Amino acid sequence: MILLKFERREIILIAGLFLFMIGLIPFMAPVYAVIIVILMYFGIKLYIGKKCQSIRADVGEGICMECGSKIINNMCSNCGRSEE
Ligand SMILES: [Zn+2]
Repeated sequence: MILLKFERREIILIAGLFLFMIGLIPFMAPVYAVIIVILMYFGIKLYIGKKCQSIRADVGEGICMECGSKIINNMCSNCGRSEE
């Protein structure tokens, strides 16, 4: 399900960049427009990848069942309750 959602987002991204490329062509050689769009594509991919990574790091090992604080090293950072 997550993969499906991601692929749909990717198609939208590619479609958007393709339109952007067409918009750039009147102002520069198509080769440069393609290069710019490819660089943008990888830049956005990198950005999304980092964002997903940071979200995962933020959620981390979960939250304490007792007080709802973040679990760090299987221990609650607030009340010290160990979480397995
Ligand atoms: Zn706790």
